[in-house]
Amino acid sequence: MGDYFQTVVDLDATERDAQELGARVLDWLIAEGIVAAERTDCVLGGDGYGHAPGPHFAKAVDDPDPVDLWSNGLHVQTGRTVFDSGQGDVGAAVCPLCRAEIRLVDEVWEPIESAWEPFEGRFHDWAEGGGEGIVHCPSCLGACGIDRWSWEDDYYACGHLGFTFWGWAELTSGFTREIGRRLGGHRIVVLAGKL
Ligand SMILES: [Zn+2]
Repeated sequence: MGDYFQTVVDLDATERDAQELGARVLDWLIAEGIVAAERTDCVLGGDGYGHAPGPHFAKAVDDPDPVDLWSNGLHVQTGRTVFDSGQGDVGAAVCPLCRAEIRLVDEVWEPIESAWEPFEGRFHDWAEGGGEGIVHCPSCLGACGIDRWSWEDDYYACGHLGFTFWGWAELTSGFTREIGRRLGGHRIVVLAGKL
């Protein structure tokens, strides 16, 4: 057993506009009745407080069965964050410069230490804001920040704004696209995982 979550991450929000964009989307979710306006003790992330499902939460999901877990709220995270999918290992990383796929696990899904080497400590460098977390691609030898790499199954995403729905059924693509639209057409990725 575990606690499932889905995080919609804005890849284009900056440190400066994340707060305002987060508030804008939250206002829309409250106005639509998808989440409750008040913050209650209903999420596992952050300080434990979030927005419980509203009367019309079913607009956002494929399976409209009521969610009955206590950890079923929405947590809006702002600030420089490496979002991840919780349990398990990531299969591969894709270079933003040459599109080469770097396999990070072997055939029995064990992490390949040598493949991880170019990425070692880079998430930390980026998240702490002291550096860009520069990765030298083993394929094209180009250098760029780890926040620009993409990850198999969107296992990781570096961003300044994320909306984590705890314990909700699968969010529809129409719903997540609408979030992207309300973020000003920003690129989004949806991470799904469990703790
Ligand atoms: Zn490359």
